[in-house]
Order: sequence, then C-alpha cells, then structure tokens
Amino acid sequence: MNKPAPTHTPMTQFPVRDGELTIGGMPLTRLAARVGQTPFYAHDRGLLTRRVAQLREQLPRGIQLHYAMKANPMPVLVCHMAGLVDGIDVASAGELKVALDAGADPADISFAGPGKQPLELQQAVAAGILVNIESFREIPLLAQASEQLGLPARVAVRVNPDFELKSSGMKMGGGPKQFGVDAEQVPDLLQAIGNAGLHFEGFHLFAGSQNLQAGAIVEAQQKSFELACRLAEHAPAPIRFLNLGGGFGIPYFPGERPLDPAPIGDNLATLQAEAARRLPEAALVIELGRYFVGEAGVYVCRILDRKLSRGHPYLVTDGGLHQHLAASGNFGQIIRKNYPVAIGNRMDETEMETASVVGPLCTPLDLLADRMTLPKAQPGDLVVIFQSGAYGLTASPEKFLGHPGIPEILV
Ligand SMILES: *Cc1c(COP(=O)(O)O)cnc(C)c1O
Repeated sequence: MNKPAPTHTPMTQFPVRDGELTIGGMPLTRLAARVGQTPFYAHDRGLLTRRVAQLREQLPRGIQLHYAMKANPMPVLVCHMAGLVDGIDVASAGELKVALDAGADPADISFAGPGKQPLELQQAVAAGILVNIESFREIPLLAQASEQLGLPARVAVRVNPDFELKSSGMKMGGGPKQFGVDAEQVPDLLQAIGNAGLHFEGFHLFAGSQNLQAGAIVEAQQKSFELACRLAEHAPAPIRFLNLGGGFGIPYFPGERPLDPAPIGDNLATLQAEAARRLPEAALVIELGRYFVGEAGVYVCRILDRKLSRGHPYLVTDGGLHQHLAASGNFGQIIRKNYPVAIGNRMDETEMETASVVGPLCTPLDLLADRMTLPKAQPGDLVVIFQSGAYGLTASPEKFLGHPGIPEILV
C-alpha cells in the first residue's frame, strides 16, 4: 500500500470569514484594496505579540529573548518587536541604525557577522553595543576605536563550537566554518582581548537554524553551556551574557510539524540553575528570527492569467521569485518543496484542482507552487503564501527582471 502523501501543517493563525482569509482582522480583498496594489507582504502585529508572549510562558523567567532582525528588518516591525523582546541582534551597521531608530537600548543590542568593516566596528563602539568578535582581526580595530572615542569596546566572543546541531536546516557551527572563532583558538583570543583592554562580557554560540526537533536544540544548548563553562576559565572578566543561540524552526513543507518549545524550557531551567552556580553573573540569552516573525506574515499576489498547457493549469501571477525567493525554493533548499499556499478569497471553495502557481519572470525557477491541490482559481483571485514573515522581501533579488518594488505592511 502507498503511504499517504505528507501534508502541510494547517495554517490556522489567520481566521477565515465568509470564505476569505483575514489578516489583522481585515478580509484579504479589502486589505488588498487598502494597500492599493498587489503583490505585497502583510504582517500581523497581534500574532507577533502573541508569539513572544506564548514563548515567554514556556521558558523560565529570566531567560533573555533577542530578536535576530535579519529575519525581517522592516523598520516598523523591528520597532514593534523592540517593545516585546529583551534585545536585538544586528548583522550590519545598516541593521544597527534600524534597531537604534526602533528605540532598542544599546545595552541590549549585539552585533555578529564574519566580515565586519572597520567603520562598522567604530559605529558599534560609538553606539555602546556589544560586538560578537568573530576573528582576531577585530581586536586591534576595536581597541583603536575605543581609544579614539574614549569609550569602552564591549565584546563577546562568538565561538565556533566543536559540535554540530543535529537535524538542522542550516548548520552554522561545528567543523570548519566562516562564523566565529574555533573553540580551540578561543583561549588565545581571550588573552588577546584582555591584553588589548577590551571590555569582555561573554560568549555567543550559534549552532544552526530552522530546527524542528526540540531534542536536538536541547542537546546543542547543553553542549554550548558546557563549552562556555570550560572557556570561561580563560576569560579576562566574568561572563555577563551567555548567548546559547536559537535555531527554533517553523513548519514550511509537507510533513513538517511545529516545534514544541516545552522541553527546551525545561532544559533552560536546569541550565539556569547550573549557571547560578558556575557563572553567577551570567544572563542566559537566546536569539530567534523566523520563530518570532515567520508565521505572522503572508505574501499576497494576484492571478493575471490561467493557462492550460497540455492539460495542466498554470496560474500566472503578478508576483514571483524576485519578491519571494524562499517560496520558489531557491533560498537554501536542496530539493524544491512547496510552501503552504492558499487562494485567499476562495477559502470555502469546494471545487479543487491540481495547479502550478508561477510568476512573470522568464525562468522556470519562477515557481511559487508546483502541482499543488488548490481551489479552482481564476484571474483576479489572490494567491496567499503563508510562513512568509521571515526571509521574504529582503532575502529576494527584487531587481531581477526590472519589476517595480512592492510594499510591506504591518496590520
Ligand atoms: C540568522 C541568524 C539568526 C536567526 O536565525 P533564524 O533561523 O531566523 O532564527 C540568529 N542568530 C544568528 C547568529 C544568525 O546568523
């Protein structure tokens, strides 16, 4: 017997009213009229608030939650998130500007990235944020900026751990990596930090991202904690921040199911008790991008044409991979799989068909849904791609083929 085909996790975060999806309480067709065009991205601020609150309930008090804003750097969204989380993680001076504009306290902003420019390091020192050092090269640059500005250079060390995050969609630690400094080299790095007079505050370990297995995340956090305790013996000052990374995933593809954070919360409670003993000044931090924002956002485009090619229906839309690279399968996927997709104004339609949703670009890669079961749709209908709140517009080649830019709204 054939196994049943894997299905998408139902997308229940946006209620359906009178056959229409609602975003931030507004029916989709009305929202599209309000925006004044398609395509667009829409993010639901109520869902963002609820997500952070729900996670806090499942984690012990005192765990600091940081938003890794590269997942979605839209300024008003970062502003909203800054009011909910305990800190913002930035990856460039451009993101730093947005975080500061959003009102984040510089004391709670940290800056990671393998290729920080001298000017960016100077800006970071001037702002008073924490720099996660990822190379010996950054030390003299930070010392120089500190001396010139007469300000302390606050630093943590991003460690490339000696283990990998299991079942991770994207590994960012373990083995040879461009991120962080290998754990074996960290004692020397710490000595250099002390000699240069930098203000050492802690460690940052990020093993990988898009993980749906709580057990794998628990294991990575335990190993990260142990490694940090060992490295702390070489530190020039007490550990004030221990950033254990994140990597919490969200379900994108058929067969994937939501992560259960409860075991992670239990483990963090244990680690917190251990930390009170072994690293008494340390706050435990976790940093999350897509887990906070991914499920709160949709991408909406409109069907321009319905074409039959040798019997197979193609729904040609006004949106495509240039605006949503990840949904086209070209942002780090090895085998292309469909994101969850709906016809947002035909949520109660009962006549179904197998169709492909494509964009306007002259490349077969411009595919938003490949042979998917969808309500039978017509030109003018609205295609909705769920799980689009993270790595959407700013992770897409918007200029490819010269179409105009599109709006992104917070509802
Ligand atoms: C990208 C990144 C994140 C966010 O990853 P998500 O999968 O969106 O949670 C967090 N920390 C670091 C260091 C990153 O590079």
